[in-house]
Amino acid sequence: MASAPYKPATPATPVVPPAQPEVHDAATLSLARQTLDACQSPAEMAQAVVAAVKRNEAWRGRQCLNLLAPEAPTSPTVRALLASEVGTRAAEGHIGPVNRWFAGTRHIDEIEALCVELLKQAFHARYADHRLVASMIGNLAVYTAMTQPGDLIMSLPQPIGGHSSNRPDGPAGVRGLHIVDVPFDPVELTVDLDLFAKVARLVQPKLVALGASMTLFPFPIRAMADIVAEWGGRIYFDGAHQLGLVAGGQFQAPLSEGAAVMTGSAGKTFSGPQSGILVWDDPALTEPLTHAVFPVLAATHQVNRVAALAVSAAEMIAFGRQYMAQIVQNAQALGAALAQRGIPMLGAHKGYTTTHQVIADVRQFGGGLEVAQRLARANIITNKNLIPDDSAEQWDHPGGLRIGSTEVTRLGMGQAEMGAIADFIARVLVEGAAPEQVADEVIAFREPYQTIYYCFEAGLPHAMQAQ
Ligand SMILES: *Cc1c(COP(=O)(O)O)cnc(C)c1O
Repeated sequence: MASAPYKPATPATPVVPPAQPEVHDAATLSLARQTLDACQSPAEMAQAVVAAVKRNEAWRGRQCLNLLAPEAPTSPTVRALLASEVGTRAAEGHIGPVNRWFAGTRHIDEIEALCVELLKQAFHARYADHRLVASMIGNLAVYTAMTQPGDLIMSLPQPIGGHSSNRPDGPAGVRGLHIVDVPFDPVELTVDLDLFAKVARLVQPKLVALGASMTLFPFPIRAMADIVAEWGGRIYFDGAHQLGLVAGGQFQAPLSEGAAVMTGSAGKTFSGPQSGILVWDDPALTEPLTHAVFPVLAATHQVNRVAALAVSAAEMIAFGRQYMAQIVQNAQALGAALAQRGIPMLGAHKGYTTTHQVIADVRQFGGGLEVAQRLARANIITNKNLIPDDSAEQWDHPGGLRIGSTEVTRLGMGQAEMGAIADFIARVLVEGAAPEQVADEVIAFREPYQTIYYCFEAGLPHAMQAQ
């Protein structure tokens, strides 16, 4: 190599960095600086990054029970496409040569058109948009297209599962909207329809956002759409979590029940690359929604991600029904198994859940933050979650734990394995076992589950093929 040797700058006196305000954990940033300082060259610095990625893959990818509700493992083809050449190409605007700023998009147009048409098929929708990198931006696209600053909307508050997307501290707030809570029944864990009718008729929201990060049971979309139609209001469904369940026909179908538009995160139950998608049926929304996407909120839109999204939509068309049904059955089995072992579960009287997630009330075990960290030391990955008894201010230290069945299902597990997972969790929470005592057993349990099913490479899990 002819390049000049790299000499790290060595200041004469050690520089004590001034205390600078950071939102990130100071100790973790400081450790990264030490790592970089110890490197002999930028190439070694790059190696440090690659090594951390490999450590994550070895641990989270192969050893852990990943029960995070917003995660899903992607198929080998989807993962490979994320590294494809087309991801280095610039493509902005709408599909078709005249609509593009750049020439040379012949095959890019093909890929994007296949993606849009596959999404329409997967959701039985007349229109779809594939260009946003995240669902949070999809929600901002909806607010951009369907509201004006100063308008009033209704949405679900965070303690009962609402997402910041639709609250004053997120895109809805950025759009300058006034926000009134959708009344929610904390026991039945669904919208309080009578109270909603009263409040909505009083404030007449232009838009009502439904869908939530914590969703155990369906929403009364049809009844709510009929109420807001009295003054020309509309429902929009934030299906970030439920997108795969909707595609697989295992959750309510928001568009056919009266929602004007559905947004979603393709990286959650849909099990594709992390992306924001929009689907809708009403032709009158096409111009405003697609205009909000381009040129307002997205320019270059990662065609590698779009290609991967298209393949994941094809996977959902082929395998979504069985995959999503198993996800729901596994979540229900997990809820029952945890309750049996002495862990209070939300919605127990309604069968725990109709989605991919269950919520444990872990206040008696130390609270959501403490419990999630303890379980992570046992190689069981979950997340702390607000529950209806919490206030929004308890964000950092909520009382709940959210547990999702998407990844373990795609790895081929069924209801029987949910009992084994509940055993591990109960040993740490209820029996007070040290997480380190359970950690190796979790690794051994996970070891045979390394294949991603419900995709064209591996098809269905063997147990299902035999049926
Ligand atoms: C996760 C989530 C989002 C954000 O999705 P991203 O794709 O991560 O931006 C929006 N709304 C709800 C209800 C969510 O759960």
